[in-house]
Amino acid sequence: MGKTTDRRTIAQCVPSLAVTEGAGVTVHRSIGTPALHHLDPFLMLDYFNSDRPDEYIAGFPEHPHRGFNTFTYMLDGCMQHGDSMGNTGNLGPGDAQWMKAGSGVIHSEMPRQEDGLLRGFQLWVNLPAVEKMSPPAYQEVAAEDIPEVVREGVRVRVLLGEYADQQGPVQDAHTEVVYLDVTLSPGVSFDYDGIAEGATVFVYLFEGAAAVAGEHLAQHQLAVLAEGTVVNVTAGGSAARFLLVAGQPIGEPIVQQGPFVMNTHGEIKQAMSDYHHGRLVQERRITPSEDQS
Ligand code: FE
Repeated sequence: MGKTTDRRTIAQCVPSLAVTEGAGVTVHRSIGTPALHHLDPFLMLDYFNSDRPDEYIAGFPEHPHRGFNTFTYMLDGCMQHGDSMGNTGNLGPGDAQWMKAGSGVIHSEMPRQEDGLLRGFQLWVNLPAVEKMSPPAYQEVAAEDIPEVVREGVRVRVLLGEYADQQGPVQDAHTEVVYLDVTLSPGVSFDYDGIAEGATVFVYLFEGAAAVAGEHLAQHQLAVLAEGTVVNVTAGGSAARFLLVAGQPIGEPIVQQGPFVMNTHGEIKQAMSDYHHGRLVQERRITPSEDQS
């Protein structure tokens, strides 16, 4: 039970870096930067947060992925998704989307708005070697299907994994990902001991001020947490909102080239060759042009 010594302290603090992605979208990247290339099993975390259309309107036109999963969580605004599996979907405020790229997907992610705030997260979760070339899959989750636990100044939206007997709508079969969106009222403390031993754990603060195990965390900083049994976050003088994410490390070599994440350089060469020869997508349901990336 949450003795002070069991609290997970901050092992590493990673500031996010503004980078330009897609056709010219400004994102704040924490995992996937020189300070933190990967955080096994996580490959990338982007936070997009802008009310300036010139920072997002160009969107993410058709581009490929192979070898991992993406999880997109919209906070504000609307994005439209279309992919080579034949899926089309609209992501609105509070909606989420899990996509297993597996052997290969070509998709587009475009803003469905001309102005206003566009805000959300995209997390890349690696796949073990045996799954990298498996068939792609897609799951869209409407905001109302995401369980919300509200009590004593704490609101938790359970997107993946489990919290207070609530099961998230997405289950990750390989790395047991836990993904919680937590809002705390000013001064309120939050404890969570439901994370499995050996898991990689991080907290990303995106509203307000908070301390992790008593240590101040600045906004847009990702805190990698040390071993322990309890995640402890306390809001400061204003309400705090953060992602709490965990997953089991895969422990395999990672070779990444842009949107392809495999285990060896040979597999990356293969992915690039497959893409350039129109063989990345094994079962095409729509025919996006492959000359954009
Ligand atoms: Fe993508």
